Amino acid sequence: MELNILWLYHDVMDLYGDRGNIQTLKYRCEKRNIQFNLETCGLNEHTDYKQFDLIFMGGGADKEQKILANDLISKKQGLQDALQQGTIFLLICGGYQLFGQYYTDANGNKIPGLAFYDYYTTAPQNKKRCVGNVLIQANLDDEIIEICGFENHGGQTENVKTPLGKVIVGHGNQYKHQFEGFYNGQVIGTYIHGPLLPKNAKLSDFIIKKALTRRYGKVTLIPLDDTFENNAFKMITERMKKT
Ligand code: GLN
Repeated sequence: MELNILWLYHDVMDLYGDRGNIQTLKYRCEKRNIQFNLETCGLNEHTDYKQFDLIFMGGGADKEQKILANDLISKKQGLQDALQQGTIFLLICGGYQLFGQYYTDANGNKIPGLAFYDYYTTAPQNKKRCVGNVLIQANLDDEIIEICGFENHGGQTENVKTPLGKVIVGHGNQYKHQFEGFYNGQVIGTYIHGPLLPKNAKLSDFIIKKALTRRYGKVTLIPLDDTFENNAFKMITERMKKT
């Protein structure tokens, strides 16, 4: 078996260790002898997006989001084709924002999004940034799991009809909000950065399985020994719940 993954804007969107997500996917595939084929597509580059099982895009500062705004629109049709062909998407923070209607930064610059979904994001000048540890209870195709990580964003995302999960600790889509992220069965958008997959073994396998299922039909993953990951998860989330 093989997993074909595209890292979109590897050159500009890589904040707070987002590349750790790629490393975790690679590690968990290779442990199972699943061939991990990684390609990148940056500014001014194009590819056949629909050939990929999984497309990943990380977060970025306002400046980076502005740099890629026009380029992203030039990729819209290809990304839309990938969505129609069932490619799975994992989008972090700035990447998540730009799949919605728009992102307006704290200086009032409006960056148009791909407008695939109804949600939109604004970063009001007078509002505090959402920074810190996050813990959510997510519903992944009717499997309820906890996901933990770190967020740092000024953007407040509204009108998310299908959030990824309920906030237990942290902010989520808006300052002190009830819900975090977006998930519609195919696209996961979240404010949780680079340590997302290294910290969340269950979510990592959920994504790998889903992306492989798109290519091979029903797939069973060989379980890995996640004692270390699970202990780390337990320790950090217990600490989060206490503070
Ligand atoms: N620049 C965006 C914001 O502040 C996204 C930040 C990020 O990707 N961490 O909301």
